[in-house]
This record gives sequence, C-alpha cells and structure tokens, in this order.
Amino acid sequence: AKSAGRSQIRYFNNEMRKKLKQQADIENDLQNGIKNGEFELYYQPIFSLTQPRVVSFESLVRWHHPKNGLVTPDDFIPIAEQTGQIIELDLHLLELAAKQIAQWQDAGAGNICLTVNVSSRHFASLEFVDQIASLYRNYGLSQGALSLEITESGLIENLNLATKVINGLSPYGVKLYLDDFGTGYSALGYLHQLPIHVLKIDKSFISQLTDEENPLVDAILSLAKSLDLEVVAEGIETSQQFQLLSTKACQYGQGFLVSRPLKAAQAMAFLQTEQIK
Ligand code: C2E
Ligand code: CA
Ligand code: CA
Ligand code: CA
Repeated sequence: AKSAGRSQIRYFNNEMRKKLKQQADIENDLQNGIKNGEFELYYQPIFSLTQPRVVSFESLVRWHHPKNGLVTPDDFIPIAEQTGQIIELDLHLLELAAKQIAQWQDAGAGNICLTVNVSSRHFASLEFVDQIASLYRNYGLSQGALSLEITESGLIENLNLATKVINGLSPYGVKLYLDDFGTGYSALGYLHQLPIHVLKIDKSFISQLTDEENPLVDAILSLAKSLDLEVVAEGIETSQQFQLLSTKACQYGQGFLVSRPLKAAQAMAFLQTEQIK
C-alpha cells in the first residue's frame, strides 16, 4: 500500500508538472501573440427580428497560433483569466475593435455599432472608464459606436464598482449587454439595480425552442419587458426558431441561420447586401 501511495504521488507530481508546463507555455504564447499581432476579430451580425436589417456586430476573437493554427476563444480566454493576462488581452482587442470601427466609418459605411466581450475582472476596475474614453477620443468614435458584453456573475460580485463604471461610460453612449443570461447565477434580485440596457438570452434556451414553446424564454422576455430592457436571442439556428421569436417581444437575434462570425471584409460585404431572410 505504501508503494502504491508513493507511485500515486509521483503520478500526481508528473501530471501537475505537465499542467504547469502547459499553462506556462500558453502564458508565454499569449504574450508573444499580442506582441506579434496573432489575434483577429471576427464579426457576427446582430439583426432585428421584425425588420430585415443588421443593427450591430458582436466581435469574437480568433487566435492564429504559429504552431497550433486557428484557436477558438474557449481554449485560451479561461487561461488568460487565470493568469491575469485577460486585462492586457481585452485592452488589445478593444483597440482592434475601435480601429475597425474607425476604418469602416472612414470607408463611408455609416454608423456601425460593435459589441465587445469584456472580462468582468477587467470591467470592474476604475481605470476601465478612462481606457474606453481614450479609445473614443483616439479613434474619433461616434457616440454608441462601441458597446460591451459582460456576464452576470462578474457584475454581481462587484455590484458597486460595476455600477460606477457603467455610469461613467454613459456619456459615450456605451450600452451594456448582459451576456449568457439565464445561466449561472441569475440573481434576479439584482437585475433592477443594474444600469444595463440589453439581455442576451443564452443559446442553450434558444436551441430548445422547437414546435413547443419554452416557458423559460417567455419568462425572460416578460421580465425584460417589465424592466424596460431590450433582448437579443443568441444561437438562432433554424427558421422555426426565428419565426417563433419574431412573434414574441424579442427585438433582436443572432445565430448561424443568418450568419456565422465573419472576417472584417466579409462582414462589410454582408452589411452591404443585407442578406437577411
Ligand atoms: P459568447 O460571448 O457567448 O459568444 C457566443 C458564442 O456562440 C461564439 O463562440 C459564437 O461563435 C457562437 N455562436 C454564435 N451563433 C451561434 C449559433 O447559432 N449556434 C451555435 N452553436 N453557436 C453560435 P466563440 O466565438 O467560440 O466564443 C466563445 C466565447 O469566448 C464567447 O461566448 C465569449 O465568452 C468568449 N469570447 C469571444 N471573444 C472574446 C473576446 O474578444 N474577449 C473576451 N474577453 N471573451 C471573448
Ligand atoms: Ca458575448
Ligand atoms: Ca453569450
Ligand atoms: Ca458564452
């Protein structure tokens, strides 16, 4: 039994060493990735469910890793959150988003709005307002050009600070989207205290929408209505889901049915042709 215990310890030590090594590698790679411009934003249209038009785009990051190829965010955002690099990464991606809007504005594309995902760890800090303010200043963004998506748990853990930040951002017309609504905490008691503007219903609820109604979706929609919030339904993949949602008090949608996340040039082309069903 003693030697079994010892080999178990050795096993754990090896596993731990491997984990630490992997983590250190990614940490290193993230640092270089930012420096070498390996991150690219893709843009997924958010559309009106009542009129055939795109209202904004959500930016979603992709990593062109020199060895591993195209890496999706679920494989590195959680690690960046653990190591604290998320703040630097978020800032870098916010800058890319601002640059892209400015470029679209210069190309005469009109008033394009982007929503950018931001980690709550970064959002709930007093520097954040200044960082957004300088993006607006440096890139000459028009009011409301940039909005933010943040998850519920992050807001609730830092309610006071988050409220200060949201209020500080309001002169810039920055809207706050509450991401993945309905998963995790759902501390409904706090919802009316948060100066947020839009709820995004998590795609797990939308994928359950078939012939049958989903009472949870209806509950979220009536909650949003009574709090005077707009709603985006995420993950619309079928025209049945589109139809069903458009008969309800849900203003906006997003999902593969209309478009996958697109590279900047394709997003612009999409906007010009407005290929909405
Ligand atoms: P999220 O913010 O909830 O983003 C929605 C995810 O659903 C995206 O995955 C998107 O590609 C995917 N999606 C969109 N429409 C559909 C659909 O119809 N069906 C299905 N099955 N999926 C759909 P993605 O791009 O892999 O991003 C995953 C998560 O990574 C995001 O979840 C977000 O939490 C995080 N993330 C992405 N970009 C950024 C970023 O720039 N900064 C930060 N901090 N986080 C990011
Ligand atoms: Ca999001
Ligand atoms: Ca989401
Ligand atoms: Ca998510």
